[in-house]
Amino acid sequence: MSSLDIERAVDRYGDEQIELIKFYRDVALEVDCDPNYIANNFKNSTLIQDKMMADFKRSKKDSLSTLNRTVVSESLAYGDCGALLATPSPSLSGALLDEIGSDDQRAFFREHVTKTSCRTFFGVTEPDRGSDAANMETKMRGHTLKGEKLLVGNVGTAGIGTVLFRTEDKFLDMRAAIVTPKQLSSERVKRESLQMFALRGSNVGYIHFEDLPIDEDMILGHHLRPMQQGVMSMVQVFNRFRPSVSAMALGTAQAIVDHVESTVDKLDFSDRRQLSLLNEEIALARKLNEKAARQVDKNPFASTMASLAKMKCCAAAKRVSSVINSILEANIILFDPWLSKALRDVYAFEWMEGTSNIHRNNLITGIKRNEFPFLNQ
Ligand SMILES: Cc1cc2nc3c(=O)[nH]c(=O)nc-3n(C[C@H](O)[C@H](O)[C@H](O)COP(=O)(O)OP(=O)(O)OC[C@H]3O[C@@H](n4cnc5c(N)ncnc54)[C@H](O)[C@@H]3O)c2cc1C
Repeated sequence: MSSLDIERAVDRYGDEQIELIKFYRDVALEVDCDPNYIANNFKNSTLIQDKMMADFKRSKKDSLSTLNRTVVSESLAYGDCGALLATPSPSLSGALLDEIGSDDQRAFFREHVTKTSCRTFFGVTEPDRGSDAANMETKMRGHTLKGEKLLVGNVGTAGIGTVLFRTEDKFLDMRAAIVTPKQLSSERVKRESLQMFALRGSNVGYIHFEDLPIDEDMILGHHLRPMQQGVMSMVQVFNRFRPSVSAMALGTAQAIVDHVESTVDKLDFSDRRQLSLLNEEIALARKLNEKAARQVDKNPFASTMASLAKMKCCAAAKRVSSVINSILEANIILFDPWLSKALRDVYAFEWMEGTSNIHRNNLITGIKRNEFPFLNQ
């Protein structure tokens, strides 16, 4: 029996995504055991194909694209976030190509993704530098790429992706390139998926480039001015996606609370009161996150509100996990495989798109820039 209460899901998110929400919940445990489950068994299904085409549409910038992506991400994560992340999609690479790719590069990427229905990767984080993109060690010298990336979603199995690197040692030298299917099967690339405890569908992995030749026409941004080729454009892509990651945390948290409310009989008045407080916290974080998404849609450099929202959404999700663990008897959780998995999954969001400490730093910078004038009143 599905752990999804469909009526509740429709009440919360409408019926537009309901088939996909239901599918994600139905395959959630299979994906948790095998992150390739959707790619191996459903990549040609209409549901997955339609989702991929919708993702291509959503990665295009328009006046509401960040908000739309945020709302959809929450609803799909309500189905199951691991399954969502294990689905073939252009994902962040699609957005990067939309930001700085040429028409030919976009067409090359899109053709490969749609023809093979593959998953894609976006390589930023490194073993020694983490996600501190300004200090990356992956470098391109001449026309060869050397370096390594860690914790990159789907990198062990993706059919194509993009990678960020530096060309010199100056601030504005950050660039990105498409890593083609041919390069991925070359001896100069080593990659593997990592063992995970939470959110296994995200299938994070490691990739190493050993003097990999990069074709000039796969380097993004040649047609743009130097300021638009690298760091400034990457910042916009990160900012546009951050509210979606926060929304995934909320979707997972909301799904847990709804699931407990509708399936656990032995809840007393105090338990129900605690669940209602969790619902309020999620609703407040959602309001803030959607406000942040609207701000990014107006100005893609407006990152302060999105940082605050990311902190609030991750905190709400972690509180849900901790409260549910404290009010339910251990055997209720242990014998409910989807619930015990979801209670683990929420801890991964803190580590996606920057930790709370990093966002706290962004927030302080925003306060110093007087982005919150009411604090001075
Ligand atoms: C499910 C999942 C999917 C992911 N997908 C991708 C992907 O597709 N591509 C990709 O490139 N990466 C991906 N990542 C990696 C992710 O983006 C990083 O792990 C995340 O941004 C945190 O950065 P970090 O690991 O470098 O940690 P760091 O930023 O190095 O932080 C390590 C610790 O130090 C603290 N810290 C760091 N700097 C400071 C400071 N200045 N002041 C105070 N404290 C500090 C942090 O709070 C944290 O506790 C993924 C991670 C997860 C969990």
